[in-house]
Amino acid sequence: MKYRAVKGTRDLLPPESERFAAAEGIAREVFSSYGYGEVRTPVLEATELFARSVGETTDIVHKEMYTFPDRKGRSLTMRPENTAGVVRALIEKGLQDMPRPIRLWYCGEQFRYEQPQKGRYREFRQIGAELLGIPGPEADAELLLMLFDFLRRLGFADLSVTLNCVPSRDGRQRFAEAVRAHVSPQADRLGTDDRRRLEENPLRLFDSKDAQTRGILEGAPTSPEFLDDSARAHYERLKQLLSIMKIPFTENPSLVRGLDYYTVTVFEVVSRGLGAQDAVLGGGRYDNLIGDLGGPDMPAIGFAIGEDRLLDVAPADPRPLREVFFVVPFSKEQLAYALEVARRIRRHDPAAVVDTDLSGRGFKKGFARAAQVLEDSSGPYPFRVSEVRVISLGPEEEARGTLKIKALSTRVEESVNLSSFERGPGR
Ligand code: AMP
Repeated sequence: MKYRAVKGTRDLLPPESERFAAAEGIAREVFSSYGYGEVRTPVLEATELFARSVGETTDIVHKEMYTFPDRKGRSLTMRPENTAGVVRALIEKGLQDMPRPIRLWYCGEQFRYEQPQKGRYREFRQIGAELLGIPGPEADAELLLMLFDFLRRLGFADLSVTLNCVPSRDGRQRFAEAVRAHVSPQADRLGTDDRRRLEENPLRLFDSKDAQTRGILEGAPTSPEFLDDSARAHYERLKQLLSIMKIPFTENPSLVRGLDYYTVTVFEVVSRGLGAQDAVLGGGRYDNLIGDLGGPDMPAIGFAIGEDRLLDVAPADPRPLREVFFVVPFSKEQLAYALEVARRIRRHDPAAVVDTDLSGRGFKKGFARAAQVLEDSSGPYPFRVSEVRVISLGPEEEARGTLKIKALSTRVEESVNLSSFERGPGR
């Protein structure tokens, strides 16, 4: 019997796992600088939460959720996205009494039963942020500014955000009816999924990947025609703010996004490097969601970045450059000394990475492995290796308490006293 990872899931091993951790570290740094704190919510939620928030007729709820009864027959779902869980957690803690705005970010696994392909998994990771309690477009602008700060830190230089404004409540209803009226005469050209969408929630037709459906939708009414004055003003001001802040955007009046809870602002960032699954991230306002889930009426906006896709197209490895010490004993006789030397260096500099050749197979093999570490940067380290300092320990070095340290890339060799690695402040 061969055990394999479940279809649509994947293992992250070093150095890939370290790249994910580095991207998450950068997210933490950037988001913290905007006053955000991290929130962690359970993977399991009551199924009803997603039906109410993401929407009964969306693809996610209709056919993509991992839903099962627990041993007491309660219907549970492994979260397909994180906003609903965050809002649920805040309502449970007493959102109405919290000082506003509330700024939270998260990072974690999400689950959707989709057909796996490049950039599309059944278990995938999202990094996201939610800003609650501010109705004005300045909140949208700040959130997008933060998002772009993060993307720039990862080396993205030429991404642009696709923007739209969708009507809420009445306007949404009229928009949906207008789309239905446009598509209905050609209903018999739709596939079964899209026919269901037409009946249950015509706006979901915009999520369709079917070329035929897309053709029919050309010339269909678009959301800007159904905006009320306040949404229109919000949108205009947001575009001004983005221009002032030099955040590149393009408008797409048929961007609706696959979740029902969005109101007013919606946005998406796509990357050509991704192929068919080209959306790196998406987000928008959800001004009615908190009230709909039983909380107070409170406006909010957020985004979710697909971390797997983000790292697929990131122009650079997000791990920082650092050097490694590599301790190589001459033979098994010097192994104990090697452990001691490594410990002294770590005590001296608690942030140092000291890798020890525990095989005791001698200098030649030890140096060869050290050279490999420098060359392919695919070690298990949380950084890319800028330099390897090889410390070779022979019987003579042990007797004298000295260390021979050779920098592999510059080939500079020096001899230092072990006592120069004095106990640092760390340990
Ligand atoms: P959504 O929550 O649907 O708005 O998606 C936000 C982002 O999550 C998308 O732009 C993708 O980058 C990512 N994403 C969504 N579904 C998947 C999936 N099945 N596999 C990998 N990434 C995904």
